[in-house]
Amino acid sequence: MNVNGVILIADITGYTQFLSATEIEHANFIVVNLFSAMLENSPKDLRVMEVEGDALFCWLPMEKRSVSIGPLFQLVQRQFRRFIGVQRWFTEVRGRHCDCHACIQARDLKIKFLLHRGQVGVYRIANFEKIAGLDVVIAHRLSKNSVPDDEYVLVTHTVEPGIVSGERQKWREGEDKYPIIGNIRYHYQKLDRSLIDELITPPFVDEIDNLSSHL
Ligand SMILES: [Zn+2]
Repeated sequence: MNVNGVILIADITGYTQFLSATEIEHANFIVVNLFSAMLENSPKDLRVMEVEGDALFCWLPMEKRSVSIGPLFQLVQRQFRRFIGVQRWFTEVRGRHCDCHACIQARDLKIKFLLHRGQVGVYRIANFEKIAGLDVVIAHRLSKNSVPDDEYVLVTHTVEPGIVSGERQKWREGEDKYPIIGNIRYHYQKLDRSLIDELITPPFVDEIDNLSSHL
């Protein structure tokens, strides 16, 4: 079955340096809490298709002919705020109690969001719903791009008509060439963490005592 919709990938930068064999338990705990907090109270249509270590791969079915960037951008901003809020908890609260590599390095994690609208094939393997198709491949390739910012949202031209005129000046245009796929045009906007001052308690904070300590 082919379905139209929007693919959203939230991709953590700095993850490889963050993981270290000896402190994997603390590193995983931090990432699970970051992703879970980002997904809390999401639109009910948003489906998590995969958690790929450092990336959250989501799918939002949407049959409408034109898709407006407004609600999608609000969703991304909300996820960004929650990411920063929980990250801040791990560095400012937890960081005072654990001096392991993972808990200290958590502050260096950055995040980017990639949005691409397209048509996918939906199928099931056992209890898992999967999506596949060229647009899924394109969405994954987008993580390699020439956007100069650390933290940003990138939206391919597939969503462009929905950008409201008043917001247009905040978006910059870019284009990258990918093997086989060809050129992909997109808009991007820098996400500014200095504007966010929330401190958010991680969803699984009650389980923190079950972690092995590195102190
Ligand atoms: Zn730790």
